[in-house]
Amino acid sequence: MKYDVAVIGAGPGGYVAAIRCAQLGMKTALVEKYNSLGGTCLNVGCIPSKALLDSSEHYFAAKEKFSIHGINLSNLSVDMPKMIQRKNEVVSQTVKGIEYLMKKNNIDVFHGHATFSDAYSINIQTSGDPIHLESHKFIIATGSKPMMPEAFNYDKKRVITSTEALSIQEIPGKMIVIGGGVIGLELGSVYARLGTKVEVIEFMDTLVPSMDGECVRELQKSMQKMGVVFHLNAQVTRVEPKKKSVSVYFKLKGTEEEITMDADYCLVSIGRKPYTEKLGLENIGIETDAKGKIKVNDYLQTSIPSIYAIGDVVQGPMLAHKAEEEGVFVAEIMAGQKPHINYNLIPNVIYTWPEVAGVGQTEPQLKAAGIPYKSGKFPFKALGRSRASMDTEGLVKILCHAQTDEILGVHITGARAADLIAEGVTLMEFRASAEDACRMSHAHPTYSEAIKEAALAATANRAIHI
Ligand code: FAD
Repeated sequence: MKYDVAVIGAGPGGYVAAIRCAQLGMKTALVEKYNSLGGTCLNVGCIPSKALLDSSEHYFAAKEKFSIHGINLSNLSVDMPKMIQRKNEVVSQTVKGIEYLMKKNNIDVFHGHATFSDAYSINIQTSGDPIHLESHKFIIATGSKPMMPEAFNYDKKRVITSTEALSIQEIPGKMIVIGGGVIGLELGSVYARLGTKVEVIEFMDTLVPSMDGECVRELQKSMQKMGVVFHLNAQVTRVEPKKKSVSVYFKLKGTEEEITMDADYCLVSIGRKPYTEKLGLENIGIETDAKGKIKVNDYLQTSIPSIYAIGDVVQGPMLAHKAEEEGVFVAEIMAGQKPHINYNLIPNVIYTWPEVAGVGQTEPQLKAAGIPYKSGKFPFKALGRSRASMDTEGLVKILCHAQTDEILGVHITGARAADLIAEGVTLMEFRASAEDACRMSHAHPTYSEAIKEAALAATANRAIHI
C-alpha cells in the first residue's frame, strides 16, 4: 500500500504532524526507531525532567520552607529509586496516551529505523523482516541528540548526558555540569535541591545568553543561594571518567593554568545536534547545512518538494512546542491550506525555581535592530500573592515600542513564569500595546498582576504598587 504521507520520527514534531495529516484525511504512517513513541520530549526530555523537577521541588520545599509556614517534619528523606520510578510511570502513561491517539486517528505505526531508498520510499529496519514502505510525501522529524566532544570520554556511567542524568538511582555527592544552558540548569537544580554539591562550568560570560540578561542573573543568584557554584568564562579541555568518580579539567579564559575538579558525575549539557544518522539523505540528495540541520524553505520543504522536515532537525530553537507548530503547519500546507507560524512568538522557558520565561525581543536585539523602546519592570516581592506564598524572587519586564506602545517582548523570572508567559504570547499575537495590558483586569491576588503592573510601569511609569 502507498501512503499519502509517512512521518519519520515520533517526537512532538512527528506525532503531532501525523495526527494533523490524519485529521485532514490523509492516509498516514508513522515510523519510529524505538519501541516507545514520543521522541526525546516524552522519553528523555521535557516530561521526565519536569517530573524530577517537581519531585525535587517538593523535597526542597519540605526541607527548607515548610517550617516557615508552621509545618514541622522530622525524619525527612529521599527515596531516590522511588522518585525515578514515579518519573518512569509518568513517562509510560504519557507514551500510552500517544499510542491511543495513533489508534484513534487510524495512523499506522511502524517501529524500526527508516532509511530513504528513493524520494518515494523508505526501508524500515525492524526487529523482524525489513519493511519497504512507499509514500507520496514524507515528513522528516528525526530530532536531535546530545553533542559530545571526544575529549569528554562519554562512558554513560560517570560522564553522562541528560538521558542518564534522568535515571540516577542515588543522590550524588557532587556533580559537575558542563554547560550552563537550559538543560544543565534544570537538571543541576534537580540534584542541588536533593543535596548534591553542583558546580556549573560555562564557556560564555553569562548563562543562557538567548534570554533576558537581568532575568537570567536573578535565576543565577537564586541558584547560588541554594549552593550551586558557577564558573563562567571557563573552557573544559578534557574529562576523565574513573571507576567511581570523574575528573574534569578546565581553564579560565585568558589563563593557561589547568584547573582540575573531581566529582561523582559529570553531566555534559553543551547543546544538541540534529539527528540524521543512517537516514539515507545522501541517497536522495537532500542537503544539510554546516551544523547538520536539514535545509528547508519557508514551507519547510527540503530540496525535494514532496519531502518536508520539521522540529529539532531543522533551523530554529530546539523546543517541543516549536516542533509541534511545525508539524501542524506542514500538514496544513500539504492539504492546501495557508497556515502561519510566528517564530518571534515561540516562548522560551527554564523550569527551575524561580522559573524563567521570555517571548519576543530582548533588549540587546531591539538595540541591534535600532528599534526605540521603553521598558517597564515590576518585582514579585511587591506583590501580595508572592508574599503569601513566599515566592518573592524575580521580576516581570515588558518592552514596548517607544512611539507606538506595541509590546515587543515580555521577560519573566519568578513563580509560575512558565505559565504566565502565555499572557505575553497572547498580548503579542494580537499586537497589543502596553496600554491594552494596563486596561485588562487581572484577578487579585495572582502572580499575573505583575504583568499588568510592569505594563503600567512601561507606560508613563504609573505602576500602582511600587
Ligand atoms: P525528537 O523528540 O527528538 O523525536 C525524534 C524521533 O525520531 C525520536 O524518537 C527518534 O528515535 C526518531 N528517529 C530518528 N531517526 C529515525 C529514523 N531514521 N527512523 C525512525 N525514527 C527515527 N523542549 C521544550 O519545549 N520544553 C522542555 O521543557 C524541554 N525539556 C527538555 C529536557 C531535556 C532533558 C531535553 C534533552 C530536551 C528538552 N526539550 C524541551 C527539547 C525537546 O525535547 C525537543 O525540542 C523535542 O523533543 C524535539 O522534537 P522532535 O519531534 O523534533 O524530535
